[in-house]
Amino acid sequence: MGRLAIIGGGAAGLAAAVTAARELRLLGVPGDVAVYEADERVGRSILATGNGRCNFSNARIDAGAYRNAAFVEAALGALAACSEEMAGLAPEGTCGAAGPDPVHAFFAGLGLVWREEGEGRLYPLANKATSVLDVLRAAAADFGVAEACGRRAVRLDVPDRPGGRFHLRFADGTVGHADAVVLATGGRTARELLPEGIGFAAARPVLGPLRTATDVVRHLNNLRVRCAVTLAGPDGAPKAREAGELLFRDYGVSGIAVFNLSRFAEPGDRLLVDLLPQVPEDGCAAFLHARRRRLAFGDRPLSREAFLRGMLLPAVARAVLEEAGLAPGAPLAKRDVAVLARALKAFPLEVRGIGDERQCQVRCGGADVAAFDPRTLEARAVPGLHVVGEALDVDAPCGGYNLHWAWASGMLAGRGAVARLTGLDTATQDERR
Ligand SMILES: Cc1cc2nc3c(=O)[nH]c(=O)nc-3n(C[C@H](O)[C@H](O)[C@H](O)COP(=O)(O)OP(=O)(O)OC[C@H]3O[C@@H](n4cnc5c(N)ncnc54)[C@H](O)[C@@H]3O)c2cc1C
Repeated sequence: MGRLAIIGGGAAGLAAAVTAARELRLLGVPGDVAVYEADERVGRSILATGNGRCNFSNARIDAGAYRNAAFVEAALGALAACSEEMAGLAPEGTCGAAGPDPVHAFFAGLGLVWREEGEGRLYPLANKATSVLDVLRAAAADFGVAEACGRRAVRLDVPDRPGGRFHLRFADGTVGHADAVVLATGGRTARELLPEGIGFAAARPVLGPLRTATDVVRHLNNLRVRCAVTLAGPDGAPKAREAGELLFRDYGVSGIAVFNLSRFAEPGDRLLVDLLPQVPEDGCAAFLHARRRRLAFGDRPLSREAFLRGMLLPAVARAVLEEAGLAPGAPLAKRDVAVLARALKAFPLEVRGIGDERQCQVRCGGADVAAFDPRTLEARAVPGLHVVGEALDVDAPCGGYNLHWAWASGMLAGRGAVARLTGLDTATQDERR
C-alpha cells in the first residue's frame, strides 16, 4: 500500500488530494493520501481570493497568458487528453468547441455551480469562496484524505535508492514518510523544501499596486481614470500594455490593469498612461484642435484649464498641464495643442517598485519548469516528487488564471502520483476505471 504526502493544503494541494484519492478509489487500489498544512486549517488561501468571492477560473483560458506558456500549454493539453472521461460530468455551458475544460468538469463533478462575469471570469453561484472550499473539503473527506493541520514541513529528504521512501520533517519535531510527494506550498516556502539540483527563480510578489515617483500622484490620491497603460523599459521599449481602470494612490497606482503590468515591471521602468484611449494616437492633435475651435467660438476666452474641463477630472487636468509645462489659467494657444496631445496620450509615471506587497496576489518565480514533466509535474530527476501551483515558475494575469493553474497542476500531479504509487500509467488508469 502506497502513501502520498501532499505538502500544503491550498488550492493546488487540495485539487491534488481529491484527484489522487478518487483515482485510488476508482481503481480499487489501497493507498493513503495525507495533506500536511502549516496553517490551522486547509484552504485559507482560497477564502481570500476574488475579494472573498473566488474567481476560481476563466471561461476562456489562454495558455499564452502564462509565464512559461509552452510548459503550461503542454500541461493543460495533457490534462484535457486524460480527462475526456469527465465529459459526462460537465454541465451544459461548460463544454467549449474542444470539449469540456477539465478543471470545470472537475468542479462540476464536485457539485459546484457557477456563473460567468466580465471577461470570462467564473465565480461560484453562491458568490462566496467558501462554496469552492466546501466542495473540495467534502470530496476530500468522502475519498478518505487525511488532513494534518498545524504541520509545517521544514525539510524533505528524497529517497537515497530506487524504491526508497521520502522523509518529511515538520516544525513540531515530528517526522513522516511517503512513497510519493506533491509539493504544493505556494511560492513562499517551496525553495526550502526542494531538493538540490532543481533550479529556482527567486520568488517575488506581483499582481499588486505599483509604487511610482510621488510628486504627481500624491495630488490625485483615490481618483480613478479609464485609460490604457503601456509599461516601457528605461530605453522606452514597450514591455506590456493593458486597458482598464487605474486608481491613483498617494504612493503610486493600483487597479487591475496595473496589477497585470506589475508582473513585468521593474524599478526604472515608466508607465505611460493614455488618458484618451478612444482617440487614436495619430488623430489626437486633430481631435484637440477641433475641440479648441468648438469651445473657443467667437471671441470667447478659453483658458488651458477650461479646455480640459469636461474631459478630465480637475485634479487630473492640472497634473496633465503641469506635465506639459503649461500654466493652467493662461489662454490656450494653438501651439499648446501638440504638447497637450503628448501629455494626454502618454502621461508618464516612473516606476519605483511594488506598492504594497500585502496586496499582491501571486509570487512570480519558483521551481524551474524545465526540471518537470508537464504531463505529471513530476521532477525528471526525482521520481515520485511532484511540484504544483505557485511553487512552480508559472504565473498569469488576474481573471481566474492563477487558480486555474493551481487546480490543473494539482489534478495532473494527483494522477501522476497515483501512477507512481500503483505502477500504472495514466492510460492504464483510464482503462481500469
Ligand atoms: C488576496 C488574493 C486574492 C486572489 N484572488 C485570486 C482570484 O480571484 N483568482 C485567481 O485565479 N487567483 C487569485 N489569487 C491567486 C491564487 O490564490 C493563487 O495563485 C493560488 O492560491 C496558488 O495556489 P497554491 O496551491 O500554489 O498556493 P496556496 O493556495 O497559497 O497554498 C499553499 C498552502 O501551503 C501551505 N504551506 C506553505 N508552506 C508550507 C509548509 N512548509 N508546510 C506545510 N504547509 C505549507 C500554506 O499555508 C497554504 O495553505 C489571489 C491571491 C491573493 C493573495
